[in-house]
Order: sequence, then structure tokens, then C-alpha cells
Amino acid sequence: MASQSTIADESDRRFRLLGLASDIDFALHWPLRYEDWTRLTPLKNVYDGQILQCDLKIISVQPPSRGKQTCRVVGADASGVSLGLTFFKVYPSQLAQWQPGKHMRVQGEVKRGVLGLDMLHPHVRLIKGFGAPLEKHLTPVYPSTAGLSQWALLRVLCDELLAQQLGLQRARIRRASRAAPIMGGEKAGLARAFSCLPFQLTRSQQRVLAEITEDLSRAIPMHRLLQGDVGSGKTIIALLAALQAIDDGYQVALLAPTEVLADQHAAKCLPLLEKLGIRTAKLTGGLKESEKRRLRDSIARAELDLVFGTHALLEEKVRFANLGLAIVDEQHRFGVRQRLSLRHKRDDGMEPHLLMMSATPIPRSLAMSYLADLDVSVIDELPPGRSPIRTRLLQASRRMDLMRWVRQEVEASHQVYWVCPLIEESEALDLRHAQESFAQLKDALPGIEVGLVHGRLSSQDKQTVMDAFQAGQVKVLVATTVIEVGVDVPQASLMVIEHAERFGLAQLHQLRGRVGRGRAQSQCVLLYGEALGASAKARLKAIYQHQDGFEIAREDLRIRGPGEFLGLRQSGLSLLRYADLERDGLYLNPLRALASELLERKGCEDPAITALIACWQGGVEDRLKA
Ligand code: ADP
Ligand code: MG
Repeated sequence: MASQSTIADESDRRFRLLGLASDIDFALHWPLRYEDWTRLTPLKNVYDGQILQCDLKIISVQPPSRGKQTCRVVGADASGVSLGLTFFKVYPSQLAQWQPGKHMRVQGEVKRGVLGLDMLHPHVRLIKGFGAPLEKHLTPVYPSTAGLSQWALLRVLCDELLAQQLGLQRARIRRASRAAPIMGGEKAGLARAFSCLPFQLTRSQQRVLAEITEDLSRAIPMHRLLQGDVGSGKTIIALLAALQAIDDGYQVALLAPTEVLADQHAAKCLPLLEKLGIRTAKLTGGLKESEKRRLRDSIARAELDLVFGTHALLEEKVRFANLGLAIVDEQHRFGVRQRLSLRHKRDDGMEPHLLMMSATPIPRSLAMSYLADLDVSVIDELPPGRSPIRTRLLQASRRMDLMRWVRQEVEASHQVYWVCPLIEESEALDLRHAQESFAQLKDALPGIEVGLVHGRLSSQDKQTVMDAFQAGQVKVLVATTVIEVGVDVPQASLMVIEHAERFGLAQLHQLRGRVGRGRAQSQCVLLYGEALGASAKARLKAIYQHQDGFEIAREDLRIRGPGEFLGLRQSGLSLLRYADLERDGLYLNPLRALASELLERKGCEDPAITALIACWQGGVEDRLKA
């Protein structure tokens, strides 16, 4: 911390040297000149020392090794002239992407040596192929001073972070101008619910419930993210929030990313809801069209108070008479657009409150910069009586030993999950894998009931298997990742994950969190295959070493970098092109303050502010609202 603030002070001093004393100077700091990244330079006629931009197809990558710190990449431009790139520091996330055959756009100073063309630590980014679109405008270069490198100023550049902060804060201000139903009523149902709870809320749960209650009593739409580690008890909080809305006569939608989870929510909440006389239904994609239509009609006529569902609830056709609160469980499994579509489920222009839940915590630095328009509540303790899960790494070749262990667990009247990976590109293959494991386990465990659940089963069949596991008839459940999120079967004490190296860290943590919910000592066995890559090794090590979801998220962020971590790359959008929050995080606080000052002085609709946001964050702003 101390060293960070020294760096900040030093940068402050240098900024002052440039006459950037006040925040406002900073915002209006004028570029010295512009650089032209709007075109590419063919490598065949470049001169020594030329600063240029070119596109390369990667030919070879030599990662840093023990003897050698640098990473060396060789590529060739469209006409086949090759260029060597030397990097002094690369992130594992970068290395993982730099593969022969892929393309990158390179900016830097070219050196002509005896061995050909070379660049030291150029600025690079991956592109789809030759012919990827270029910058349309010149890139500003700012006056610099010694020690504050031009390169750093150009990439760090505060403009980008400022635009981001302006965008985020403007979204927040605009939200404050929209209307939401106020829920401050008698809370009779809530009081009755409390009296029926089989346990006391933890202190963390009480705190987050109070935060949510406060939001619901206000006339502006809540945008709250409820974070809490796997098993920390988010569902009951969601239910108690729902009851407040229902008490005041509003409808509630509770969304889950999978049918299995939606079923489970419904099953878990129903006893209490029925006691309270609350009218519920479940709307999922697996229903017959006629059934869906019937449900949609009931929803539109306000004949239902609480609707559980999956993505099917987001369909345009689903209209609520009086939606007061939408709850999205495992929110990271939904796209931003999908979450946003919930805002428009009422026809009267009012916006429902939005509560999102996630067991994949977003580290604070990231949350504060990307999610400024989300308030965050954190459950930071587990309900009492949980024992830590023991994690083991086991080579796949020891599968047969493991089967014996599975038998022992079952004989000790525990239950076992056996998870097989499902990778989209080869769904059929992976399904076969799960079926093979299922057959093997049945063979190896005569007399023991083994079940199989995967994404291709009809919802009816899925439910039958899950019910049998829940009821303890099925002892060993072979599953693809359909069980990844949310499933809660306290008697299960052993989690086996095959090909653990293929899973992401968040997924592994989620899966492991399916056990350790009862009194028995629980274990998680990670079976891994041969020839692990660097990033797979790093993931397995992290999951082995850490239990705490926040620690794991931090590791995940370190291994993958923020773009991957937030799932932005799949969406083709990157929130920050030049600034890097890890590196440039220290500028964030002053820029956040500056953004709020600018908005206050000039207002949300100020053309200069709008232009700045559009220039840097065009197309991105929409994402930031959720
Ligand atoms: P998650 O946060 O992962 O969604 P769940 O809501 O599924 O976790 O809760 C996990 C389990 O803990 C459930 O069986 C739930 O009933 C139980 N639980 C929740 N809160 C408490 C509490 N305060 N005391 C005891 N058990 C609790
Ligand atoms: Mg949950």
C-alpha cells in the first residue's frame, strides 16, 4: 500500500510539472500531436527506427523459460516478410492466446538487424485476421515529462478512464431519474416468514437483507449485486426480498440460468410460499407451448405473485401486470442485455427493482470501476456448522482406486457427485464421455444406484433424476455441468471432477461448493489428465490452495486478466483498450472524483461529456447499466 501511494505521489508531482495541478486541467489536457494508426505499413520497405503499425500472422512463440526471461514471437505480414518481437513481460493470459496461426496487430519501433526485422516490446493486440478494421481517427499524444513515459501516458491515458467513469456515473444519475415501485408496507408476510424459518439468519445475511430492504423502500430502481460465496445462503435472502414486494402487492420474477436450478428454487421455496398463500408458477423453456401461453396470460393478469423461471421468462412475449422485483440468480450466466430486458417488463414506464446474485465474486477494484452503477452487498460468512472441504488432486490413471473410495462413501450413507466436463465445441463427444463414466461406475459399484443427468435430457427426465438424488435413492450422480450452479443436496459429501483441468476456476469453485453442506467431512477430488498447460496448472493449484471464493476470484483475475474474467472477450467488446486497471488503478480515484465533479457542474447532457464518452465508450455504455 505504502509503495502504491508513493508512486501516486510521484505521478502527482510529474503531472504538476506539466501544469496539471487541478482536476479540471487534467480533463482538458490537450494533446501535443496525433499519431496515425489508421493504416498499416508493409514490412518489405521499412527503415531502421521507423515507428509503424503492421498486422502479423504468428509463426512461432517462445515463452519465457527458466534460463530466459524474455518471450519471443515471430510473425509474418501479409506478404510473408517476417518480424521478430521481443517481450520483457507477458501475462499467462496473453501467452495462452498467442498461438501460431493467429493474427496480431503490432505497433512499435522497428530495428533492422543482421537477422532481419525486430521490435522490442511492441504494443500488440490480437485481431481476427489480415484485413481487420483500422482506427478511424488519429490517436492523440499528450505532452509528457521525463519519468512519465509517453508510452505510459498514451496507453494509461486518463481520457479513457475518465470516459469510463463518466459513463458509469451518468448511468447511475440517469437511473436515479427513473421511477420504481416503493415497497415500504406492513411486511406482514415477511414477519410470518421469519417465524417459519428453520434457522436464524447469519449476521451477514441480516446486513444484506437490511440493505436490500432500504433499496426497495425507495422510489428509484434498485440495481444491487448480492455476492456471497457458494453455500453462504443467498436463496433465502432472495426469498425474503421477494416477500416484501409481494406484501405490497407486486409481482416477483426469480430467474435461474438452468432448469435444474429453477426447479430447485421452486422446490425449496414452495413449502414456505404455500404456507403464506402465495401464488407461484414456473416458466421454463421445456414447457409445452400451450402451457407457456397459459402461464403468460396468468402473469399478465396478475394471477401469479412469484414466477420462477429460466431465460424463457425474458422472452418479449412475457409481460407482467405489476412486476416489482426481478431477481437473477447466478447473474454472470446471463448476458447484460438479458438482464437489462427485465427493466422493460412492465408497460407503465415504471422499472422493477433488480437484484442480482452471484457466487463468483468480482474483486473490489474491478467492481468499483466496471460496476459503478451496481451497488454491491456481500455475505461474507457461511452458516454455522460447515466443515471445510478437503481438496485432492489425483491423476486420471488412478480412477479405479477412486471408485473404491466412492463405494466406501456410499456405504457410509453419503452421496457422491461425479462430474464430467461438457465443452460446447464437442458436446456429442463429451456426452459420450459422461455416458461411459456412468457405465463404468455402474460396473464398478454393483448394487449401488447410479444416476446420470445431462443437458440433452428432457426437463422431465432431468427432474426425475435430480429428485431421486435429492431423496437419497440415487447414491452416485454422474453429471455434466448442468449441476454446476446452485444445486443443494446436503447429504452429498464427495465431489469428483473428471478432467478438472478443462474447467475454469469459478466453475471448479462452484462445483466443489456442492459438497460441504452437511455435517460429514466433505472431499473434492480433482482428476486431471496428462500434459497440463501452464494456465491449467495454475488453476488447479489455486483451487487446491484456496477455499475462499474471493481469493479464488483474485487468482482467476490474475491468471486470465480482466477482459476474460468479466467474460467480455466472448462478447467482442472490451471495456478498456489502453488502460489496465491493475497497473493504472491508482489514477482511478482522482478520475472518479473528477467525473462526478464534471457531471455535477455540466450536467449529464453536456455535449463535451457526451462526446468524450462516445469517443471512448461507444457501444459499451449500455453494458454498464447492469
Ligand atoms: P448459495 O448462497 O450458494 O445460493 P443456498 O442459498 O443454496 O446457498 O444455501 C445453502 C444452504 O444453506 C441451504 O440449504 C440453506 O437452506 C442453508 N442456509 C441458508 N442460510 C442459513 C442459515 N442462516 N443457517 C443455516 N443454514 C442456512
Ligand atoms: Mg444459489
